[in-house]
Amino acid sequence: MAPRYASVYPLVASRAVARPFTYEVPPEVSKGSVVSLRFHGARRRGVVVGFEEAAPVGIKTAQVGDVVDALPEPLIDLALWLADYYGSTPARALELVAPLKRKARGERESPAARDALGGEAEPAALSDSQRAALDRITAALESGGGTFLLHGATGSGKTEVYIQACTAALDRGRTAIVLVPEIALAPQTVGRLRARFGDQVAILHSALTEAERRDERARIASGAAPIVVGARSAVFAPLARVGVICVDEEHDQAYKQESDPRYDARTVAVKRAALEGAVAIFGSATPRPESWERLERLELGGRLAGPLPPVRIVDLRREKGYPLSAPLLAELGAVAESGGKAILLLNRRGVAPAIHCRSCGTTRRCPNCDVALVLHADDRLHCHHCSWTEQPGSSCPACGSGELARIGAGTQKLERELAEKVPELERIRLDADAVRRPGELAAALRRFADADRAVLIGTQMVAKGHHFGRVALAAVVDADTGLSFPDFRAEERTFQLLTQLAGRSGRDAPGKVLVQTFQPDARPIVHAARHDVPRFLTEELERRRELGYPPFRHLVRVVASGPEAAGPMQLLGEIAAGVVDDVLGPAPLLRLRGRHRAQLLTKTASPRPIAARIAQLLAAAAPAMRREGVTAVVDVDPQGL
Ligand SMILES: [Zn+2]
Ligand SMILES: [Zn+2]
Repeated sequence: MAPRYASVYPLVASRAVARPFTYEVPPEVSKGSVVSLRFHGARRRGVVVGFEEAAPVGIKTAQVGDVVDALPEPLIDLALWLADYYGSTPARALELVAPLKRKARGERESPAARDALGGEAEPAALSDSQRAALDRITAALESGGGTFLLHGATGSGKTEVYIQACTAALDRGRTAIVLVPEIALAPQTVGRLRARFGDQVAILHSALTEAERRDERARIASGAAPIVVGARSAVFAPLARVGVICVDEEHDQAYKQESDPRYDARTVAVKRAALEGAVAIFGSATPRPESWERLERLELGGRLAGPLPPVRIVDLRREKGYPLSAPLLAELGAVAESGGKAILLLNRRGVAPAIHCRSCGTTRRCPNCDVALVLHADDRLHCHHCSWTEQPGSSCPACGSGELARIGAGTQKLERELAEKVPELERIRLDADAVRRPGELAAALRRFADADRAVLIGTQMVAKGHHFGRVALAAVVDADTGLSFPDFRAEERTFQLLTQLAGRSGRDAPGKVLVQTFQPDARPIVHAARHDVPRFLTEELERRRELGYPPFRHLVRVVASGPEAAGPMQLLGEIAAGVVDDVLGPAPLLRLRGRHRAQLLTKTASPRPIAARIAQLLAAAAPAMRREGVTAVVDVDPQGL
């Protein structure tokens, strides 16, 4: 038999390897085969992306070794598209669909995932709006796919629609993916899928051991587990014939990967659905303006169990006692007396977010980063961006004054004040300091679920999709925290956080919501207090249309960093001169970990040519950048600015 030649990408991280290589392959190899091979003298894995008609002329080709895995073809096309769209390399993108054990940065997971809080084994009866949504999804599944926004308040029954959409896919010989922002924060969703589908569900997350991960992938590839649940990387699950991709809590930033390839799992889900003729379902109580504007909407309406709780705004300009104002203390007292639970959101860790000298006005700052140091319960100052810590000392290092003020409050201070003022309530803290080790997060959530009278204190983690019973009070201690961020999404994020937290209250019995703020007239606060999602999104879209922000234009961001302030600014200045589109900047950013940083933002109708042009300019500047220790990253559709 004549030898066969295939185009193969060796899986190497180097940016220099950006084309496929020709190898001689045995007959059992097909597009999507993962093979072992030798590349530049080293043993590697490679992915077959296509075949060549004729034997290559004038070069000697090597043979591949064993076939170690087989991936569905659409995944190969998906990876090559991703590399192009996000300006990465094909090999790095193929590594996402043919992963070896590695912990994706920012994907923090450690589910308890199998004895998780249970669910019903039988399908629930659907409401009229759930039925209408499911009928539309099923019709799309039978006619080549589509993308939908499933909009409904917390408790309106989105999960049941996902589950029955998965059933519809299975009934038609298709498979399904359910994405959640973080597995550890979604035990109920996972529990309900397991209760309904049993061992047909595979769970992919980064806390799996290498052996467990191999087992789960084998169950997926063999067809034994046609439903995959996981965080963002599960969008690359090696399922064949995908019919449905559900993206739960679609507004959550965790869907964006912040290291190369900087993909957004939501954008990838739409692309994969298109390649497979599948239906993508984006669900949220607080959708992104992007989804509200672009997607066909399936409305579930309000809560199945009754109306959403009333929201009271506490004006901190008039009420004393921050972080615990008199109205908030009164509500906590009522919970302590009659039993039940409260959730307090304060999106700042530590005891005091800043230490400030009353004499000279100096704020204690990190020597490596341009940010204030935060006092923690261990009585040390910590930087939240690098590992720097120091003693607070008793006097100001700038002027020697002993008049030091602790400004503001963090979650640890709130915990102390609650211990003092409402000792009857058990305190459970949920933030990055309290749940560092695997299992601690699940344990904290279980403790809260089982408690008789307790208060859950924490950062935005407490507002994620938990469904706890008997929550009589949900309160935002400081609604202003996020509004001051210099990010065009600051208002969107604040609105989402407030509305999501409000949704945690009163799911099974009447509940209340309290929002403490110095800006009671701010748009996101006013609309969140009325649960008015359409009004907020309509106004937000109007503002973005005027300013040319997403979804009306795409953003491409370049962040440069270097040991001196001048290098990054100069590099970005050169790039700005070479790009014709609407350019903002370059502007300096906060110094982090000792590196000076700056960013350039371009607004464009088509991000790919701009990203490609910037990549060209960066390649030309590479020698000078190396000399000056300057590095740069390009981010297409960035999230946090
Ligand atoms: Zn001073
Ligand atoms: Zn620092």
